Amino acid sequence: MHDGSLGGVLRLIREGRALTRTDVMDVTGLSRSTVMQRLGVLLDAGLLVEQPEAGPSSGGRRPAALTFNERVGIVLAADLGAEHGRLAVYDLAGVVLIEEQAPLRIADGPEPVLDWVERRFDALLAEVKREPGDVLAIAIGLPGPVEDGRPVKPPIMPGWDDHPVAERLSERFGAPALVERDVNAMALGEHRHNWPDVANLVFVKIATGIGAGIITGGELMRGHHGRAGDIGHIRAYRESDELCTCGNRGCVAVLASGSALVRQLHEAGVDVATTADVAALVQSGDTLATHLAREAGRVLGAALAAVVSVVAPSLIVVGGEMGDASEPMIAGVREGVYQQASTLATRHLRVLGTRLGQRVGVVGVATVALEHVLDPANVDALLARRGIAA
Ligand SMILES: [Zn+2]
Repeated sequence: MHDGSLGGVLRLIREGRALTRTDVMDVTGLSRSTVMQRLGVLLDAGLLVEQPEAGPSSGGRRPAALTFNERVGIVLAADLGAEHGRLAVYDLAGVVLIEEQAPLRIADGPEPVLDWVERRFDALLAEVKREPGDVLAIAIGLPGPVEDGRPVKPPIMPGWDDHPVAERLSERFGAPALVERDVNAMALGEHRHNWPDVANLVFVKIATGIGAGIITGGELMRGHHGRAGDIGHIRAYRESDELCTCGNRGCVAVLASGSALVRQLHEAGVDVATTADVAALVQSGDTLATHLAREAGRVLGAALAAVVSVVAPSLIVVGGEMGDASEPMIAGVREGVYQQASTLATRHLRVLGTRLGQRVGVVGVATVALEHVLDPANVDALLARRGIAA
């Protein structure tokens, strides 16, 4: 027997497991009158569309076919990093309608950054000719720990601690707003899009900072205060007196992050200012940059070995501005993990670069928004947004 709630019926049709009224009755075991009532509500709300005589024939007149109306609304997705932002508008089929990226300084604080995000969303909505009233959810990824829609003491985001990010965006667009630690969203996006059958996956982001998103049993592991996967602040196996943004010394992040590589290259007399500069240098085949990136990968890999022993993933995916652009870095991560973790833990473990490139963050954030909107438990909220009481 299937979940016969409104949300359950909508999901059946959306996933293609029921095409006609009879299918819905067969799969759910609900009476004809209950099915008619449920479908009536969903059709009135515009969540379903009906095509007469488009269903499969069983001898007589062909029945009407029911399909999910993917154009009924949109979601807004913003992936904010330390130095850049990527914004997109998605329809409910998960198709990106428009996307843009721009430089950004998260350290400028929440007011200017969120003002900018809101203005850009307005502009993108206008470009795809959709109304603010079409927005069914907003999701935003931030480069730090998040809990209940607010950042929690994020080391590289001065001024953002406990800022009501979700409340502000929700009020502005009149729809639910979800705030997620960026690397959690990346892990979810990578999993749903590329590895839905891999139950245990760790996504590692190497950008200005370092973090991991952990999928266990197909779902995101958040941990206390959303801090699960905060691997950048594990103490590195190599000695270092360098002070970390977290206040400790010798963290993995001070040896292996994009900003660590900027510092190391700078000390060697190379003129680099940003993680993007380092990534470009490594890609150009520069000997010193390549060596440092590989070494950074090894340090990170050694720290990941502990994660591997605890979580037992079958796949580690590396991404982020630095990780995505740098095969030597991924090779270093692979070496570090295989050297430091037990043979038993790594026997079936693969370490790969992301297939989504620099889009992984925004794809992940959009996934967060879409899963929220389409969750059967949230269908009442969806109907209310369409002006219909369930
Ligand atoms: Zn630290």
